[in-house]
Amino acid sequence: MLATRTQIALAYPQSVLRPLCEHLAEHEAVITEEEGVTLILLDGAKARLDLLPAALDVVVEAPDVSALQAMKRAIASHVVEFAPKDEAPQIRWSGDGTGPALPPDFRVLTVAGVETITPHMRRIHFRGENLARFEQTEALHVRLFIPPEGLAEPAWPMIGEDGLLVMPPPEERPVVRKYTIRKIDSAASTVALDFVLHEDAGPGSAFAMRAKAGDRIGMAGPGGRGLKPAERYVFLADETGIPAVARMLEKLSAEALGEVFIEVADASEEQRLPHPPGISITWLHRGEAEPGSLPLLQDVFARLEWPADGPSVYLWAAMEHAAFREIRAGARAKLRPERDQHLVVSYWRRGVAEEEHAAAKKAEMAKA
Ligand SMILES: Cc1cc2nc3c(=O)[nH]c(=O)nc-3n(C[C@H](O)[C@H](O)[C@H](O)COP(=O)(O)OP(=O)(O)OC[C@H]3O[C@@H](n4cnc5c(N)ncnc54)[C@H](O)[C@@H]3O)c2cc1C
Repeated sequence: MLATRTQIALAYPQSVLRPLCEHLAEHEAVITEEEGVTLILLDGAKARLDLLPAALDVVVEAPDVSALQAMKRAIASHVVEFAPKDEAPQIRWSGDGTGPALPPDFRVLTVAGVETITPHMRRIHFRGENLARFEQTEALHVRLFIPPEGLAEPAWPMIGEDGLLVMPPPEERPVVRKYTIRKIDSAASTVALDFVLHEDAGPGSAFAMRAKAGDRIGMAGPGGRGLKPAERYVFLADETGIPAVARMLEKLSAEALGEVFIEVADASEEQRLPHPPGISITWLHRGEAEPGSLPLLQDVFARLEWPADGPSVYLWAAMEHAAFREIRAGARAKLRPERDQHLVVSYWRRGVAEEEHAAAKKAEMAKA
């Protein structure tokens, strides 16, 4: 068991402890009290918070450094958030896992090779240390940290001595984009991701176009939700969703039944995706039209039938925002909440870079 401790000077520690506990309880922490000491259990880590006359004494214990850092960060960030603005609490941890370190879910990847899958899909093979946490099919996507082009030495986010995340200065700060792990072999320390090369290339697509052996990026995660068991699978995606569809198809049992519809430009963008014999794959071609400008996936969805007494369904869909909105509304209206499940996600938005797209999604979720 690893352990770390801090004593944070606060004029009114009780007024910080209460909202901190309320907030962590909303994030599935278990909070109890034992002889006046507050105990917080979160993701395998345990924290003891003791109110002193003008300070909060905190001891964190965890079985591994990842859980230890996560609990330290949860406490430190909420102490800073809930303390009066003019108090600026000073936090210094002593014990295990102190000192600047990369976040526990962060890995530095080095480009090992580049492979052309189709004219607009490039696979980048990377090498990285300690990749086991990413080798799972429950959470398929990662956040990539792409350093500015031409920077001699990439700068990464670090956990500071206060347990909080410190980002590099703006001119060195990596840009963050979400991608899906296409292949991973943690025993061999390798991981591969497939990048769509698109017009109006943002940092993600531009990195894939220029990547060469020895380039470095950061990877954090993984995140997302995995496959749900169902009697019928329906996957809808444009090319950005192909890596996830491919991984889910690889995971399905040989008896699985269902339909997959994938929008690409033309036949040259189709890929061979191994799949169970009971699953059909239909490629939809938009031809010369811009990606995300035709309602091909929406039309397919509208034609699909969902019999009231039919098999249970798992619908997975990922594509441009306009199609996402329509298909998500349709899924909510047409699927049976007691039998069916769905995950419909907006992977990108026409004319909008990821920062703005992600902010809009967050605002929409908050409103909902
Ligand atoms: C969970 C998740 C997993 C994802 N997995 C993958 C993956 O494995 N592979 C992959 O290629 N993408 C994937 N995406 C989509 C990818 O994150 C976005 O396409 C992202 O916008 C690309 O970043 P960028 O820096 O290239 O462009 P941005 O800087 O975000 O955008 C610049 C411009 O390019 C346009 N644009 C962005 N993406 C596309 C596109 N695909 N086609 C045409 N125009 C586009 C934008 O509308 C904008 O005008 C995933 C997204 C999510 C949310």
